[in-house]
Amino acid sequence: MIDLTTIEHGDVLDWPAVIELHVHTNPDSSDSMLSKEELVTTGKMVGLTGANLAEHDKVLERHQQEALRAEYPDFFFNFGMEVTTDLGHMIAIGLREYLPGIRRAEKLREELDKVGGYLISAHPFRRLFDPVTAMRTGESFEMNPEEAAANMPVFKIAHTLEIANGANTPRENEFAAEVARILGVSGTGGSDAHSNSGLGYFATGFKESIESPDQLLEALHAGEFTAVQQDSASKFSCFNPPYDESNY
Ligand SMILES: [Zn+2]
Ligand SMILES: [Zn+2]
Repeated sequence: MIDLTTIEHGDVLDWPAVIELHVHTNPDSSDSMLSKEELVTTGKMVGLTGANLAEHDKVLERHQQEALRAEYPDFFFNFGMEVTTDLGHMIAIGLREYLPGIRRAEKLREELDKVGGYLISAHPFRRLFDPVTAMRTGESFEMNPEEAAANMPVFKIAHTLEIANGANTPRENEFAAEVARILGVSGTGGSDAHSNSGLGYFATGFKESIESPDQLLEALHAGEFTAVQQDSASKFSCFNPPYDESNY
């Protein structure tokens, strides 16, 4: 695993692979307006070297995967999915298709383990600090990061969590980053973009180049990555922000 004590929040990284791990494209995610072509064109422009498609509860079919790889040979495509589970949204990497029963996070992890896959808890704190959520559920989220790391079942099932999500509030990301530090894992980053907007703002940087799904899985399991934030055109810096409760 990368020794995050030697890389600090804001350090500019010149790593060979910057991959968008959480993006939705049209028409495979019906709520997305982003075409694959736009993803590649804009992605390259902002400095991404590849993307993991995280369509909702769906992996692109083989023939679609092959067509995309053939059309864009210089942009790495991985085909994951964002699964809606009993423990929230999770990004599953390594499954060939949606399998029965994976709505249960535990079952999803089991299936991934069979194929050497990787599981990320996506935006685990989204809207939890929002007073509207508290009003709707009748309870407010009272855990501190230590308690969340120790008590939330999703962190016993996922390999890691997303700490940089372009659709989150800063507080949601900072809280997640603190939880990742407590758990001792590298967190991932992605835009969660559903259009051109926000693409590349957050991503995941890898120390080695990533050109195949196997290399991606290997690097993820080895923890050889960090969440990154776009600094300026094609420049990315480490994203590992401090969490200070008193700011909120
Ligand atoms: Zn989601
Ligand atoms: Zn998403």
